[in-house]
Amino acid sequence: MALVSTNPATGRVLESFETWGKETTAQVLDEVRAAFLGWRATPIAARAEVLRAAASILKAEAQILGRIMAEEMGKPVKQGAGEAEKCALVCEYYADNAAAFLAPEPAEGGGLRAYLAFEPLGTILAVMPWNFPLWQVFRLASPCLAAGNAVVLKHASNVPRCALAIEDIFRRAGLPKNVFRTLMIGSRQVEAVIQHKSVAAVSLTGSAPAGASVAAAAGRALKPSLLELGGSDPFVVLADADFEAAAAAGSLARCLNAGQTCIAAKRFIVEDPVYEPFLELLAGKVRALKVGDPLDPSTDVGPLARPDLVEELQAQVDASLAAGARLVLGGKPLKGPGCFYPPTLLADVTPDMAVFREETFGPVAALIRAKDAEHALALANDTEFGLGASIWTRDLARGEALARRMEAGSVFINGMVKSDPRLPFGGIKASGYGRELSYFGIRQFVNVKTVWVG
Ligand code: NAP
Repeated sequence: MALVSTNPATGRVLESFETWGKETTAQVLDEVRAAFLGWRATPIAARAEVLRAAASILKAEAQILGRIMAEEMGKPVKQGAGEAEKCALVCEYYADNAAAFLAPEPAEGGGLRAYLAFEPLGTILAVMPWNFPLWQVFRLASPCLAAGNAVVLKHASNVPRCALAIEDIFRRAGLPKNVFRTLMIGSRQVEAVIQHKSVAAVSLTGSAPAGASVAAAAGRALKPSLLELGGSDPFVVLADADFEAAAAAGSLARCLNAGQTCIAAKRFIVEDPVYEPFLELLAGKVRALKVGDPLDPSTDVGPLARPDLVEELQAQVDASLAAGARLVLGGKPLKGPGCFYPPTLLADVTPDMAVFREETFGPVAALIRAKDAEHALALANDTEFGLGASIWTRDLARGEALARRMEAGSVFINGMVKSDPRLPFGGIKASGYGRELSYFGIRQFVNVKTVWVG
């Protein structure tokens, strides 16, 4: 079996990598475990310096990294360069804050004194998706490494070049050999890695079926897991909203990365009196986006990452149209080579339709009419997912009151949902469990050790 890098804009195979067998994988895991023992004894200030060096490389090479992403998974180069710079931010954030986040905490427990120490667990397996091929890895790896853990990466099979580029960045940043390794394996080899004695825990970012499978394997091995899964985020527009701002943010929130974002706005739930005017504004913004070559710096929307993703999206659109949705824009893949799918708007969507019930991983916006704010909230929560949500209203008190009743890991009022190193990120329901980023992220994979002195 091979890991194949294919350019989704042209369909051309760029490079192919042989996958590792059992013995090579087990040997690398043992080497990583040995390297972990040295890394955990390295002072936290020295670990922070490695992250700062990684941040410098990411900033200096943002354009090159953007190009690797564009060629391998179709992200427009300007968005990929921005992603590399954001990775630098998360490295710097944990370089600046890890010591404070992990400082021992005094505790009351009788005796002479008691305190909590936060200690690394060992090797953390990161099973990662292709859609933000750098960001997903750095947001997990930087707090893990700062805490003294080692990391092994099993990246998505279609982005082996990105996976190797990340390993190379850490090597050049001065991370000791084998503290971060990319495993050249397919998803069928993941269970054996989780079972391996050298692996302490697993974090998966990806789809719900992959999450269920990895969590079950972690359960069998009695190892902790963290799951960052899919979403069908609601974007609620109330009658008193600033429509211009909402439509501008909405088109970006749906079409960034060609709509292949876990926290993309997927269901636009609009209060009845403003439904048609908002639809027109949104259609105007979406129509203005430039679809094309991801290597062209003026491109807004590149191809989807793989042909099967185009087929899956088309099936969801077709099923929803057959069930009575109204086609406003797009609706069919673009002709010619590559996996191009145009920004698409479906109006009059109802909760029984595929684009409401399932996660749509492409630039397809579903517009749903709500009778009033209470109905909008009920529709927003009528999903198996619970990742992000946004609410648009000029009445901030009402917006916050609704936000507190949203079933989601984060709610943004008058803003698109985004990740930020300073804010915890994660979901509830079928969107997963655990939190990344902020101090919650660095505390996910540590042993909270109680030390009691009598
Ligand atoms: P995916 O197909 O679930 O793959 C994610 C990773 O899991 C890949 O490395 C994949 O390897 C591996 N994998 C798949 N099935 C597995 C199994 N049964 N056992 C072990 N590993 C398995 O997801 P994707 O298509 O790459 O990414 C899109 C999904 O990720 C969407 O649902 C999106 O919403 C979600 N996502 C969530 C977040 C978040 O923070 N919540 C962020 C980004 C993306 P192979 O490539 O080798 O199959």
